Amino acid sequence: MPGWIVPPPKKPEKTPEEFREERERKVGWLVRHGYLRSERIRSAMLAVRREDFIPAPYRDYAYEEVPLPLPGLQATISCPHSYPLFYEPLGLGEGQRFLEIGLGSGYGTALAREIVGDSGIVVSVEIDPVTLEFARGNLKRAGYRDIVLVQGDGGLGASERAPFDRICMTAACLDVPPPLLEQLERGGRLIAPVLDRGVQILTLVKNVGRKIERTEICEVLYVSLRGKFGAEER
Ligand code: SAH
Repeated sequence: MPGWIVPPPKKPEKTPEEFREERERKVGWLVRHGYLRSERIRSAMLAVRREDFIPAPYRDYAYEEVPLPLPGLQATISCPHSYPLFYEPLGLGEGQRFLEIGLGSGYGTALAREIVGDSGIVVSVEIDPVTLEFARGNLKRAGYRDIVLVQGDGGLGASERAPFDRICMTAACLDVPPPLLEQLERGGRLIAPVLDRGVQILTLVKNVGRKIERTEICEVLYVSLRGKFGAEER
């Protein structure tokens, strides 16, 4: 049962031009409301067509502030403002090695690919094979050929590609899975929705050498992490 209202499925009718206008308006709104600050993230949000990452029956809602259902057991594309909400404090930027846990639609992955640029790398782990194939198709059609997609339990990270400068979890955990902290580069940052007494708090973790610094940002609502470090298993 999601904690938000899913709009009714319908036949997509909007034209590419209408979507382009909605995208530009959305980016302006995100800037005005203080979500979007860095130029690289702004250009990425203008470049990636969010509508291309949404199943047809929900496509016309692409720029509304609502998560939308995706193929798979428990996947949603997060609402538009959540990407700068995560990526700005993460300090996602050029040349970084980026790991995403919870590929979903592949939209956030495509944004990250644009932001880190050719000198960075993007790895994304998805536990649900149906969701993974949906995202693979979206990314391929959108022209992304060098994103590393891994099917498996993202709570374990992606040790063969580690370490990472930035890690983003898009599913809620009880606590940050230890393997992810181990795969975080010194000076690196990780962001995740962490459950605390029934509410999810978007938490930024900085690896500052010998210790870990944590900052709580705001309340969020994400699907629960599955697998070994799942939020529903203890
Ligand atoms: N960033 C995505 C959000 C996806 S929702 C988007 O905006 O499209 C969260 C995703 O995390 C779902 O696809 C779910 O299947 C996936 N997930 C849940 N537990 C996981 C785990 N242990 N490892 C990898 N992916 C996981």
